[in-house]
Amino acid sequence: MVEQVVVIGAGVYGAAVAAELARRGARVKVVDSGVPADGTSGATFAWTNSNGKQPRAYHDLNVAGMEAHRRLAHEVQGSDWYHEGGNLEWGGDDAEREQLRRKVDSVLACGYQARWLTRAEVLRIEPDLNPAELPADGIAYFPSEGWIEPARLIGHLLSTVDGERIWHDAVTGIDVSGGRVRSVRLASGRQLSADAVVNCAGPRAAEVAVLAGLELPMNNTRGVLIYTSPVAVSVARVVHAPRVHLRPDGGGRLLLHTHEVDDAADDGNGTVDQAAVEKVVEAGCALYPGIRGASVESVRVGERPIPSDGLPVLGRAPGLPNFHFAVSHSGVTLSLHAGARVAAEVMGEDWSAELAPFRFERL
Ligand SMILES: Cc1cc2nc3c(=O)[nH]c(=O)nc-3n(C[C@H](O)[C@H](O)[C@H](O)COP(=O)(O)OP(=O)(O)OC[C@H]3O[C@@H](n4cnc5c(N)ncnc54)[C@H](O)[C@@H]3O)c2cc1C
Repeated sequence: MVEQVVVIGAGVYGAAVAAELARRGARVKVVDSGVPADGTSGATFAWTNSNGKQPRAYHDLNVAGMEAHRRLAHEVQGSDWYHEGGNLEWGGDDAEREQLRRKVDSVLACGYQARWLTRAEVLRIEPDLNPAELPADGIAYFPSEGWIEPARLIGHLLSTVDGERIWHDAVTGIDVSGGRVRSVRLASGRQLSADAVVNCAGPRAAEVAVLAGLELPMNNTRGVLIYTSPVAVSVARVVHAPRVHLRPDGGGRLLLHTHEVDDAADDGNGTVDQAAVEKVVEAGCALYPGIRGASVESVRVGERPIPSDGLPVLGRAPGLPNFHFAVSHSGVTLSLHAGARVAAEVMGEDWSAELAPFRFERL
């Protein structure tokens, strides 16, 4: 019987897994080498979506993740970390427009919500947008998408866990005998006995897996996020324009990103090329002229935890049935639902059909 569970990592996955385990009656210890939301969950665009996610099982998992956020926000009074304002997206050239058209067709075929808006319709919902930056029509709107504030969600989830929280203490060893994990060792010298362990170490999940004798191939990538100072610009939703992606970030701040700016992060020392940051801010100012009144408050580099084939790794490891994974990119969207499924499996429930495409052994 599973009583004591050690959850390694206090990002969105660790928090979601721990909350569900606690709800099911497990005695949970959450361990983090830093503090909650210190990892990728504190440097993420945090857009909840299943926008062009393939294959179908992965699309469905993301849709279930979106639904889980909606449900939790409904259940918890004051849960204003969840913002379901939708997402606007348009192409900058013919190739991008064609790609967008195909994506809209494919998500509609899956029963996902998407529709086309004209410039006039977009300006009614985003009045501070510069009309000159918008095409006359062909603007895709995905109304069920949104964004969350991960640190606040993590805080809520951990507040529901009546177990031990251990911060600033890394997992440095995992004791295995007789084909089962027996205990977890920490840098401080503590040893935590465990009936089960869940690896929620995000981009460091491969290092944790090695401690249990398992090889988890990962292709992590870096992303650069630009946070503005508070500014009096009305941005009510996620916006994917050709030269900048942005969304509100609470307290009047905006969060800006592009795929191109990700290349501006120096792998060695974590610095970011300033010229690349300014280019993104300029694109933001062109789109919402009021952003000129803002300054860049911080630039963060996040590391996407990406298993080698791009899909999540969820559930128990073969040959080590009390060692479980909850690791993926798009973890903000997925973690509430996928983390709950992993926790249910830890506690003996059978979710084999849903988890089958995401098992560790496929890698
Ligand atoms: C630029 C960028 C944009 C993104 N955009 C989106 C998006 O729009 N939508 C979306 O859904 N997802 C997005 N993601 C992905 C998403 O943010 C991640 O999938 C998610 O945050 C991962 O959460 P996690 O809990 O697995 O990892 P983390 O948040 O990194 O948490 C792992 C924790 O484990 C701890 N840890 C590691 N090793 C050890 C150890 N040995 N002992 C103890 N603790 C340990 C770390 O300190 C950390 O706190 C984005 C990511 C990036 C970088």
